[in-house]
Amino acid sequence: MMERAPNEPGQPTPAAAPVDVSLTLDVPAVALAIGAHPDDVEFGCGATLAKWAAEGCIVHHVVLTDGSKGTWDPLADTVELAARREDEQCEAARRLAGDNAGSVAFLRYVDGELEVTREATGRLARLIRELQPDVVLGHDPWKRYRLHPDHRHAGVLTCDAVVAARDPHFFREHDLPPHRPSALLLWEADTANHVEDVSGFVDRKLAALEAHTSQFESTMKAIDAVQIAAFRTRIRERLAALGEPYGLVAAELFARISDL
Ligand SMILES: [Zn+2]
Repeated sequence: MMERAPNEPGQPTPAAAPVDVSLTLDVPAVALAIGAHPDDVEFGCGATLAKWAAEGCIVHHVVLTDGSKGTWDPLADTVELAARREDEQCEAARRLAGDNAGSVAFLRYVDGELEVTREATGRLARLIRELQPDVVLGHDPWKRYRLHPDHRHAGVLTCDAVVAARDPHFFREHDLPPHRPSALLLWEADTANHVEDVSGFVDRKLAALEAHTSQFESTMKAIDAVQIAAFRTRIRERLAALGEPYGLVAAELFARISDL
């Protein structure tokens, strides 16, 4: 019987190194990371963004949904939760990128109900044209056996928006010049073909993840100091194991699409 990876967010279960991978992009001047929910970007590419920011890259974020279902408490005030999670995301962006933290855009689609629409694609494409990122990062929409529809739809929207932003006849109503990024990196990759060396930046990823205090129980399964320590150890060991086949202290893996 085929063994499936545990349903953990962000980075894959380590496996044997594929033969044909690229290693560590040149540091982009501007990066744009697009997540379905607050905290997805930190899980997916936090250490990579921290490394780039430390070398001068401006790091922008987009969060597609309002995160209003990110709790196991059936009595939670979801309006209050959504507002709290936006504050947490802004703090996480600061912790990742420091002075090079760029904008954090909240598109506020209802958590769990994100759909691939022309309207949503257009809003994302407009942001790509305005911010002009060299690298766009997002969810891999082709990741098998991941059930959350927001992650799948966020990945499709990201890919569709990259296509729309680069072509002058898409969304002409933007009245903005087209913009073509040099690379698209998809995290939680179904088939990773790119490795980013993040040695020395895992603690920044952890610090940013820990800005999402509302998610300690549901996502990080860490409600006390012992469990938070265990969460840190899990992330450190995961990134170390991903780097090991490449001789790196720590790595994040992606599906890279460069032919944009
Ligand atoms: Zn998510």
